[in-house]
Amino acid sequence: MRIDRISDLRQKILSGVISSEEITLEFLSRIEKNKKLNCFITMLDALEQARAVDKKIKDGFVGRLAGIPVAIKDNMRYKGSVTTCGSAILQDALPDAYDCEAVKKLKAEGAVILGKTNMDEFAMGSSNTSSVFGPVLNPLDNGRVPGGSSGGSAVAVSAELCCAALGSDTGGSIRQPASYCGVVGLKPTLGSIDGNGMFALSQDMDQIGPLTRNVDDCKLMFEVLSGRKTVDIDCRGLKIGFIKEFESRYNDDTRKVIEKAKELLSDFGCTFVELSAPSVNAAFAVYLVLGNAQSANNLRNIGTSEERGKKLGDEVKKRVIIGEYVLSHPEIVDKAKRVKSGMISELDRALNECDAIVSPTAPSVAFTFDENRSKDEIVYSDIFTQPASIAGLPALSVPCYTRNDGLTVGAQIVARKNSESLLFSLGRLFENQ
Ligand code: GLN
Repeated sequence: MRIDRISDLRQKILSGVISSEEITLEFLSRIEKNKKLNCFITMLDALEQARAVDKKIKDGFVGRLAGIPVAIKDNMRYKGSVTTCGSAILQDALPDAYDCEAVKKLKAEGAVILGKTNMDEFAMGSSNTSSVFGPVLNPLDNGRVPGGSSGGSAVAVSAELCCAALGSDTGGSIRQPASYCGVVGLKPTLGSIDGNGMFALSQDMDQIGPLTRNVDDCKLMFEVLSGRKTVDIDCRGLKIGFIKEFESRYNDDTRKVIEKAKELLSDFGCTFVELSAPSVNAAFAVYLVLGNAQSANNLRNIGTSEERGKKLGDEVKKRVIIGEYVLSHPEIVDKAKRVKSGMISELDRALNECDAIVSPTAPSVAFTFDENRSKDEIVYSDIFTQPASIAGLPALSVPCYTRNDGLTVGAQIVARKNSESLLFSLGRLFENQ
C-alpha cells in the first residue's frame, strides 16, 4: 500500500473508510518488518493513542492530523518515555514527566506518535553512525548512511514507516538526511517552532522541523507545529539566486541538481542571478566555535565526569573539548560572532537581490558505511546548509536529482525569514518535474 498524502488519509479516517487503529497497526507491522533499518529507538503507546483518537473522531473531533501516525526524534520529550539522544549516558535516565511543546502541538491535532527515532549521539554528526543503539541504514541502499543527525526520522519517512517525522536541525540535520533519503525536509525560520522540551545542542541554531514525503505534508506539519498559516505564492517570474562561492564544492551529481533546478524553474519563467557571499566559506568555522561553545555548556550538567569519560562517544568528547577551549578564550567567541554578523548582512543583501537562493542540499549522495572518509569530509556534508542555520533563515530540501542507481541529492531553497510560504510554493515546482 502506498501512503496517501496526509490530508487524503485524514479524510479517509474522518469519513470512516479506515480507522486510526487500523492504519496504526499497518505502520507498526511495517516497522516490525523493517527492523534492520534500525530507525526507531523506542516505540510508544501508539495503539492506545489511536483508539483514543478514533473515539474522539466519533464524537466529532476533526483535528488537522486526526489519526495520522508520525514519529519524533529521540531528543524530544514524550511523557513516560526516556529521551536518550542516542547516548549511553542517557540510556537509563528517568522517563520524561512531560511532553515537549512540539509533541503537544501534534497531539492537539490528533496525531498518533508511533515512536522515537534513532539519531547521531546528541545530534552531533552527519551519518547516524554514532548512536549507542547502532547505525541506521539508508533504505535507498542499505550499504549507505542515511545522513544525520535526524537519520532515523528521514529513514522512517523514506521507508514509509510513518506519514511524517520530526527532526531537529542545527547545521543541516534535517535537510542533509532528507537529501540522502529522497524525502522533503524543512528547517523553519529560527524560533518559529517552540523547541521547549527538546535537548538543546546549540540554541542559537537549533530548530525543530518536519520530514515528509511531499511538500503539501511538510506545509501542513509546519502550520500545525508553528501555529502559523501559509499561503500559496505564484512563482512565475521569480528571481532565483545561486551563490558563486558554493561552486568549487560541486561534483557531477550536485551540478546536475543545479542544471535540473534551472531547467524546471525557467519553465516557470524564473530568472537567475549569480550572487557573491564570500563569508559562506567561514560558515564551518563559525559553526565549530559558536555551536560547540553552546553544546559544551549544555552537556556540562549531564552525568558525573567519570560517567562522561566512560559513556560519551568520541565525537561528543571531541566537541566538548573544542567547546570548553573556546569558552575559556572569549576572544575566539567574539571573533566568531563578528564573522557571524557579517554573514547575516551578506545573506540579507543576497536575498535582497533575489526572491530565494537555490543550491544542492548536500555536496554528494549518501556515502557508504565503509567509505574511507576523513572526519573532515563528513563534517563538510553541511557546507551548503550551515549558512542558513547561522543566519536563522528558513530552508527547504526537496528531492531534485536521482541517479541511475536510485541515490538522490536534494535541492535546498533558502529565503528571507518567515518566508515558508515561498519555500513551499517553490518546492512544489520540483515535485512536478
Ligand atoms: N551534521 C552537523 C553536525 O554534526 C549538524 C548537526 C545538527 O544539525 N544537529 O554538527
